[in-house]
Amino acid sequence: MSTNIDTIRADFPILSQTVYGKPLVYLDNGATTQKPQVVIDTLIRMYSEMNANIHRGVHFLSEQATRQYEEARNTVRDFIHAAYSQEIIFTSGATAGINAIAFSYGERFIRPGDDVLLTTMEHHSNIVPWQMMCARKQARLKVIPISEQGELILEEFARLLSPRTRIVALTHVSNTLGTINPVEQVIRMAHLAGAHVLVDGAQAVQHMPVDVQKLDCDFYVFSGHKLFGPTGTGVLYGKSSLLNELPPYQGGGDMVDCVRFEGTTYNELPFKFEAGTSNYVDATALQSAIKYVSAIGMEQIAAYETSLMHYAREQLQTVPGIRMYGTAPLKTAVFSFVLGDHHPYDVGMILDKMGIAVRTGTHCTQPLMDFLGITGTIRASFALYNTFEEVDQLVAGLHRAGSMLQ
Ligand code: PMP
Repeated sequence: MSTNIDTIRADFPILSQTVYGKPLVYLDNGATTQKPQVVIDTLIRMYSEMNANIHRGVHFLSEQATRQYEEARNTVRDFIHAAYSQEIIFTSGATAGINAIAFSYGERFIRPGDDVLLTTMEHHSNIVPWQMMCARKQARLKVIPISEQGELILEEFARLLSPRTRIVALTHVSNTLGTINPVEQVIRMAHLAGAHVLVDGAQAVQHMPVDVQKLDCDFYVFSGHKLFGPTGTGVLYGKSSLLNELPPYQGGGDMVDCVRFEGTTYNELPFKFEAGTSNYVDATALQSAIKYVSAIGMEQIAAYETSLMHYAREQLQTVPGIRMYGTAPLKTAVFSFVLGDHHPYDVGMILDKMGIAVRTGTHCTQPLMDFLGITGTIRASFALYNTFEEVDQLVAGLHRAGSMLQ
């Protein structure tokens, strides 16, 4: 990266903490990322200077907050290269976006006997909402299998596609394996079969440039808190031609045009999908996070993290008894592994005492664990502020944990 790593780390106050007297090595970025000072400052600025409910007020503060919220929407539009601001819907996270589409799309397009395609590596958030919809609509859920390496088997996908396939929902990047899926190819194949595609970008937008028009996806969702922004924020992108056809997901203020007891007409996009008081404060802080990563450059972030990934992959191999899951050549710096026969939790606890934060368990991907024939892994997930020294610290910690658990 052209921006110095020490400068970047200094932007994140939490990273200078010590844990049990050891410098914090934060490798749980797949779960959530830390926040740069600009994001924290924006939250303070919004509440100290600009807080008023948006869209409804005639007064100065309300107009300012409304303008700020809509500017945040424009920033998101540019960040993912959407064609129009009205295609950007603020949500509370990736989960909320998937639920909204599973419901609204299901109401509009799914008939009994239709197929919904997912993949083995989906997060529970991209499984359960579709199961609920399929149960409601008597539709069938089908699963695109993956290889031992953790890559989609595209020939099997081609076989599963049929005139009954309505929608394919898949993750851009696996939160457990780090696999970067060939989403562009999947989208092309799905479109040729007449199906729509939702891409779960929860583990992608913070690691690489995303261009929804180039991908040609129909829907794209992500969470703000994994993109250095505040919790309780997220984005649902949808092609306006499609979103206009879908019924609203939730009813309430702001999403309406005219309300009568006899019937209600709905507001236009994006407001049709933003019922109630929007989270304008956190959306503005998310805008600050996006401006922050954009100033560094998503291409630069991707290149830096790829070199970190290659180094970590090589170094982790030196740990006795390590077994890796997710060895696709095209992957992000996310490593899932087990150490001999030791329970992942025990390894995680020992690492924690050394100040190294990893996650252990199923990572909300139980069907993937079943496929791998395991009950859980240790997961180390890196972000733009992690260093090569931290890879060394993780590797040293694993060597030590291995010998302690002998
Ligand atoms: N999809 C993927 C791939 C994820 O990693 C996550 C979060 N771990 C989600 C969806 C859900 O995100 P959230 O809990 O922020 O809604």
